[in-house]
Amino acid sequence: MKIAMIGTGYVGLVSGVCFSDFGHEVVCLDKDPRKIEMLDQGKVPIFEPGLDALMARNVEAGRLSFTLDLTQAIEGAEAVFIAVGTPTRRGDGHADLSYVMAAAEEIAKAAKGYLVIVTKSTVPVGTNAKVREVVAAANPALDFDVASNPEFLREGAAIDDFMKPDRVVVGVESDRAAKIMAEIYRPLYLRDFPIVTTDLESAEMIKYAANAFLATKITFINEIAALCEKVGADVKAVSRGMGMDGRIGNKFLHAGPGYGGSCFPKDTKALARIGQEHASPISIVETVIKVNEDVKRRMIDKLADLCAGSFNGKRVAVLGVTFKPNTDDMRDAPALTIVPALVGGGAKVSVVDPQGRREGEHLLPGVTWCDDPYTAAKGADLLVILTEWNEFRALDLPRLAGTMAAPRLADLRNVYAAATARAAGFAAYEAIGREGFG
Ligand code: NAD
Repeated sequence: MKIAMIGTGYVGLVSGVCFSDFGHEVVCLDKDPRKIEMLDQGKVPIFEPGLDALMARNVEAGRLSFTLDLTQAIEGAEAVFIAVGTPTRRGDGHADLSYVMAAAEEIAKAAKGYLVIVTKSTVPVGTNAKVREVVAAANPALDFDVASNPEFLREGAAIDDFMKPDRVVVGVESDRAAKIMAEIYRPLYLRDFPIVTTDLESAEMIKYAANAFLATKITFINEIAALCEKVGADVKAVSRGMGMDGRIGNKFLHAGPGYGGSCFPKDTKALARIGQEHASPISIVETVIKVNEDVKRRMIDKLADLCAGSFNGKRVAVLGVTFKPNTDDMRDAPALTIVPALVGGGAKVSVVDPQGRREGEHLLPGVTWCDDPYTAAKGADLLVILTEWNEFRALDLPRLAGTMAAPRLADLRNVYAAATARAAGFAAYEAIGREGFG
């Protein structure tokens, strides 16, 4: 089967590459000529573990190609996936659907025969129905179906998530579209993966409800962590004890500096907005959004406490700025709130991140980029672990403490423990929801 993929970002490129690995013929298209040029040269424009090798294998096999030409991409395709961005619209929290609608219209104008137009982007309830209207208006003669197929992959583990999903969600309106979607995902059926086939609206809602639930779980443990600090409990033990309950589960119960990334912040805002528009507010999600902002602010207070109340003239080394490890994605990362607060407060900030520098250089003005934690920490008054990259999980703490002007550690991912930091020679240590000192 031939598939066209519109958008070669984190979702579009991974999905396109994986579909080609299933054996389908896939043409990936992007508006950005720089991306297509890189892809044509065998270079992956994003950092996603394993993607370069899988891409090379399928290009080599002749199943995967890249283009800027939509007519060529969709010629003979039975399905075209829209995997463009749906960022937060300025001002009102609503998802910006302009990229999705523009792609739908372009597809309509270029299409010649029957095809299923599949929305993979995360979109509010009712968007697929609007896509149907836009396509019908742009090309009244076109025979087509729309389908909703939200994506659940996580950056950093995207290939595995795509190849072994917990579930595939497909919203359709016709048997013909259902058959084509089933054919696309057939290689997964062999492994008996559950597929949820439903109507368009339910498929759209599943994605937002799932993301909002996960953001709520993270925010819940972050608030419990704040209380743990007050009452002398250890949030790591609390999450472990909670997570062993099968009804709760141990995932997304790690306390940290607040959720960020390309999905949770914008999807919680969009869901809250959808609720308000339908006079059915999702108050719990509205509260989660607010609490997450408080969590990030609390991190800044924690760092200020470690610096005796003022960042002015302090040297601060920050380890990790991407919103989580194994990605170069900086969208809505807690670092974008925390680092500017340090710089704005008069600190001299050194930053290390295994993949975040390319994006981070534009987003974090006024910092010095270093290649390794030891260089960054030299002469520093405070060391902050902001993203738990593997590179930062087995640091030589005595060496770091020895190189700092004032050995103080803010471990915002609970990688280490107070006793370890004390033994390494740190004079002060703060973590999240557990014992610190100094
Ligand atoms: P992205 O910004 O990385 O990629 C979007 C790409 O689409 C860009 O390369 C852009 O140039 C291209 N594009 C925009 N309009 C186009 C058009 N008309 N024709 C061709 N190309 C066009 O976005 P992303 O992170 O891949 O997210 C895409 C969607 O998937 C969003 O709705 C997002 O919420 C959802 N999603 C993302 C993730 C994730 O982890 N990133 C996970 C699940 C779902």
